[in-house]
Amino acid sequence: YIFCQALPKIELHAHLNGSIRPSTTEELSQELEGAPISLPELQRLIRQTSRTLGECFQLFDVIHRITTTHEAIQRITREVLEDMAADNVVYAELRTTPKARPEQGMTKESYLDAVFRGIADYYAASRRAADIQVRLLLSIDRRQSAEDAMDTARLAVRLKDEGVAGLDLSGNPSVGQWDTWRPALDYARQHGLKVTVHAGEVWNPEETASMLAWRPDRIGHMCCLDGTLEKQLLDSYIPLELCLSSNVCTESVPSYGAHHFSAFHSTGHPVVLCTDDTGVFATSLSREYALAAAAFGLSNEKLTQLALAAVDYTFLEPGEQRALRDQMEAAIEVER
Ligand code: 5GP
Repeated sequence: YIFCQALPKIELHAHLNGSIRPSTTEELSQELEGAPISLPELQRLIRQTSRTLGECFQLFDVIHRITTTHEAIQRITREVLEDMAADNVVYAELRTTPKARPEQGMTKESYLDAVFRGIADYYAASRRAADIQVRLLLSIDRRQSAEDAMDTARLAVRLKDEGVAGLDLSGNPSVGQWDTWRPALDYARQHGLKVTVHAGEVWNPEETASMLAWRPDRIGHMCCLDGTLEKQLLDSYIPLELCLSSNVCTESVPSYGAHHFSAFHSTGHPVVLCTDDTGVFATSLSREYALAAAAFGLSNEKLTQLALAAVDYTFLEPGEQRALRDQMEAAIEVER
């Protein structure tokens, strides 16, 4: 674990509201009048070590009810960056679903302004600021309509020069239809943004095949595959964002040892270890590397290669990727 902690790492799959510190969840919940959920119940939900995917989405609904203000969004953004930097994450693509809450005077734009203020707060206050770079991915929630999704895609395109690198499709995989959000993803792609989608979290072979045929720039999870889909994925060479704790915790895969990381990594398919939701799954990127090392017998050299390979799967421009690789190699040299 100490080696994994010291290793400079890249985080490519982290949801802002899922990465909220448990202590902050408790605090914000206490501040609310008429709290949406009793504190003991919230504490029980957070401390639960295993929960179904359905229970996870209930927990997200609770978290969303306590992060309704701009101040809360600004705060959790700063804290997520603090936690990542302390874990030696040197580059992160943080994803979040911009939310309009008219009753709070919040629009999708003002939600993102709060995220940008959180990032600025982090850089203003931290001595480690030079150590971590961040880009944003705007998430489309599967509950959203085609218009709502297109709205987010347009916003992402407008904010391309402000640090928004792409779009993500996430949310409850049992809800909605792929065709609904595809025009928004097409629009983003046509305007030079990258796209990652959550795919194969539940058994839905038609949807997973359609997503693969669309050729996203990266794909998250892919737990439920048959031989045909697996071949389609291997042939595509699309990088996979894999989140071990999340998949085991939600019982999407039965155990760490049985996780598909090993099958894909051993064939040379591009994979990157990620956290998904550090708050909800009580994890960190170092812990995910350590879990993979323990489950699959990865040497320190292999872990280092894994961390460095992720540079190629970032949504950065080639020149930025080169600079990031140099920075990581220099940090690895110092550790040696
Ligand atoms: P937010 O986008 O509000 O910052 O982060 C929380 C949201 O991320 C959740 O409401 C959900 O839409 C999405 N999310 C977080 N973890 C997962 C996951 O494991 N699977 C899927 N499909 N979506 C997730």
